[in-house]
Amino acid sequence: DLARIQRALISVSDKEGLVELGKALAAHGVEILSTGGSAKSLRDAGLKVVEVSDHTGFPEIMDGRVKTLQPSIHGGILARRTDAGHQKAMSDHKIAGIDLVVVNLYPFEATVARGADFPTCVENIDIGGPALIRASAKNHDFVTVVVDPKDYAPVLQELEANKGATTLKLRRTLAAKAYARTASYDSAIANWFAGQEGETFPERLTLSAERVQTLRYGENPHQKAAFYSDGSKRPGVATARMVQGKELSYNNIGDTESAYECVAEFAESAIVVVKHANPCGVAVDADQFTAYQKAYACDPVSIFGGIVAVNRTLEAKVAAELVKLFLEVVIAPDATPEALAILATKKNVRVLLAGALPDPTTAGMTLKSVAGGYLFQTRDNGHLTKADLKVVTKRSPTAKELDDLLFAFTVCKHVKSNAIVYAKDGATVGVGAGQMNRRDSSRIAAIRAAESGEAAGLKVSPAVGSVVASDAFFPFADGLLAAAEAGATAIIQPGGSMRDKEVIDAADEKGLAMVFTGMRHFRH
Ligand code: 5GP
Repeated sequence: DLARIQRALISVSDKEGLVELGKALAAHGVEILSTGGSAKSLRDAGLKVVEVSDHTGFPEIMDGRVKTLQPSIHGGILARRTDAGHQKAMSDHKIAGIDLVVVNLYPFEATVARGADFPTCVENIDIGGPALIRASAKNHDFVTVVVDPKDYAPVLQELEANKGATTLKLRRTLAAKAYARTASYDSAIANWFAGQEGETFPERLTLSAERVQTLRYGENPHQKAAFYSDGSKRPGVATARMVQGKELSYNNIGDTESAYECVAEFAESAIVVVKHANPCGVAVDADQFTAYQKAYACDPVSIFGGIVAVNRTLEAKVAAELVKLFLEVVIAPDATPEALAILATKKNVRVLLAGALPDPTTAGMTLKSVAGGYLFQTRDNGHLTKADLKVVTKRSPTAKELDDLLFAFTVCKHVKSNAIVYAKDGATVGVGAGQMNRRDSSRIAAIRAAESGEAAGLKVSPAVGSVVASDAFFPFADGLLAAAEAGATAIIQPGGSMRDKEVIDAADEKGLAMVFTGMRHFRH
């Protein structure tokens, strides 16, 4: 399984570690072929190098567009060393074998990222490099391919251990990495081109993602899972710095995402508690500690094992409350040193510092898989202001009701449908999530409010005098009537039902104020 390296071809755009590699190869008696820029770097370091153009007898032409695209290069890479016919072809055409190919590509992604113009981006599409990589990876039985300077060390270690040869195991690992690299390179090019054409959903879409970590298991212990980065750098769970705690689980990651995206919606200091991907307590307040107390009061039962997200630097006073609970994750843009010291007393809780908040209004794509396919959609970046709300009842909401209505509807956006959210004084008091009919969600939210009120020793349910938000229109008056019965005084919903009139009449009859948003926030 060992393949000896006698001749190497080095053609790298990123010259990191190049000279060290060249020296180590020379020490193993490897002959080095190289292209213009790479050859110069090696020669400048005092190494003996053969220019590819001297080796092939054909100059690099067209500003380097054609450098290594030569039969004597590709034949040298692709020849099966154990095949008599291939060996004969090599000798007939004076082709020398190439056993190690070290290539990293023109920096196309970085060129796009720095906002270069169209022709510059096109010129940074590497042609010969991917051909070298794919050919070497195909012939991995005999050829070692390296596409990442990080892999110079493992290759050199094998040369050291095996008298100048590599193992098949390493060559296969490197071949897999090589094809992943050319695939992601071509994905970047394809997506960039589609974007240039102004298409949101091009006919063909290629995904490229980089593994952040393999996870202990998936949603359930019998499922396997891994976490990938899409490279977008959107602030959140994928980019946050974990300062303490156990390894994140699959469910932790999903729940943390839900919590952090929700908390980022609010301009005021806010706290979001999430359990099983749904908010079970959300509050805003000028004071972070008060916000926490209000969020906690909404559902002191579900917070057990929950995720807490904060949209400001986490304060010590709140951290001191958090360590009294069993929590899975705490995420914030930042935390004070005192807050971190307090959290450190609970070693298992995962603390993530994201540095910044995601912008809820930014465009972007979400992806869901179905049998045999993928569903793509643009992000739900809908963001309402008071000016977007239309009063449809005889009574208009008071200023305080209006604040709570907008708050409740914003929370609704982050609750699984059917979503009903009761809110009062900048805090949720009851959340009804994920039911198959709106009336049940409404009832559950009212029950939650009543029970939490009872637990806090209140004589009346916190739903009394609250406002209620519905993520989609009330198809019938019954859901609204259930909310009125629970004590809600104002309602926010998209409107647009065939029976809007019936629902508005019912609201008027009960003296409720109702506003329509004209925007739905289904979330499945
Ligand atoms: P150098 O700096 O050594 O002149 O060029 C190194 C770069 O050229 C590498 O990124 C390699 O992938 C790329 N390359 C090698 N052969 C060819 C070729 O025939 N055509 C093109 N377009 N690029 C090549």
